[in-house]
Amino acid sequence: MPTNPESYPVDRIRDDFPILKRRINNKPLIYFDSAATSQKPFSVINTITEYYQNHNANIHRGVHTLAEEATGLYEAARERIAKFINAKNSAEIIYTKNTTESINLVVNTWGRSELASGDLVLLTEMEHHSNLVPWQMLAKEKDLELEFIPVLENGTLDMHAFEQLLIRKPKIVSFSHMSNVLGTINPVKKMIETAHKHGAIVLIDGAQSVPHLVVDVQDLDVDFYAFSGHKMLGPTGIGILYGKKALLELIPPFLGGGDMIRQVHLRTFLPNEIPYKFEAGTPPIAEVVGLGSAIDYLEKLGMINIQRHEHALMRYAFDRLSKMPGITIIGKELENRGGVIAFTMDGIHPHDVAQILDSDGIAVRAGHHCAMPLHERFQLPATTRASFYLYNTEAEIDQMVISLQRVQKMFN
Ligand code: PMP
Repeated sequence: MPTNPESYPVDRIRDDFPILKRRINNKPLIYFDSAATSQKPFSVINTITEYYQNHNANIHRGVHTLAEEATGLYEAARERIAKFINAKNSAEIIYTKNTTESINLVVNTWGRSELASGDLVLLTEMEHHSNLVPWQMLAKEKDLELEFIPVLENGTLDMHAFEQLLIRKPKIVSFSHMSNVLGTINPVKKMIETAHKHGAIVLIDGAQSVPHLVVDVQDLDVDFYAFSGHKMLGPTGIGILYGKKALLELIPPFLGGGDMIRQVHLRTFLPNEIPYKFEAGTPPIAEVVGLGSAIDYLEKLGMINIQRHEHALMRYAFDRLSKMPGITIIGKELENRGGVIAFTMDGIHPHDVAQILDSDGIAVRAGHHCAMPLHERFQLPATTRASFYLYNTEAEIDQMVISLQRVQKMFN
């Protein structure tokens, strides 16, 4: 079912994204790589330009007008972000560089102070490297145990195994809300509730969920939640860590330097209050302001409408691709799935697929998508991934199908 053009005017929405007017290899750009990073609307680009043209100054440090304006814009964005994910308090919103840094912050503060030799950290087989490697590094240093919830053939998590692993009393369960390869949307609310019952806290990697789904951190009762601005229409260089206030107050600072302190003496310092305790040095001010503008755009469209549009696109693409002989889609889950489809083509390397699609102006990704263990689980060295966002259309999926048929003709 195509999305209703009256309730979701995708053509008008596309006009807001200047890059979608580009031609690649003399063909109109079809951008199916939003899981890697999203494109940006005029409103975000203009907000950043306007910030530099009229308000640029360092924050929290001056009493002059520009410093006050920059600080006001920076803190107003924090309020908007808090409201967007329904955090109780804007002090629970920490600015970082990206999802990766947000996860590293939790691992190196909470993990370093609360975990000891022999403690168990529970992850899943579908994690992005950013939610694996930081834990592996800490596990090596502190002699922690890592365990993994298995992924079933259909691309969902093995909930029976999850319950069994919880009996071993992990201190933390850390997993992605939505897989960047399978598109699977995990039953996070239920999983958080179950983990809490067994005494574990929960960190969610929301890199693929906050840009695409309605996320309410209070309803989820999640302890830490990480996401990136650049995947949700915002600029690169700005990420968010949400944490429950009591936890953020408990854990030590991450990076040391200016702004994160209340007092400094030659041999000691007193950390600042949250959120500033975690924001050392000059932060990405223009990027924060840009992210605020991205959220305005997303809210204007409505996350539920975006979610529906992408789900419809995914179903349409799934249907068309699964009817093509010689194509295998990874993960069969359809109901709880966002706009991501990774697939293989018999006898053709994903890099060749992506290269030929690029010659038709179609941007898809080929490789392991920073999820090598998940590819090992499916015994695949690489896949081709098409990922959709609020500006994509069914006509673009039709074009991709034509291009994939061309790939098959060339290789057979
Ligand atoms: N987790 C998931 C599920 C992702 O898809 C990504 C981005 N591909 C990341 C983490 C890392 O995001 P970033 O590169 O913005 O830190």
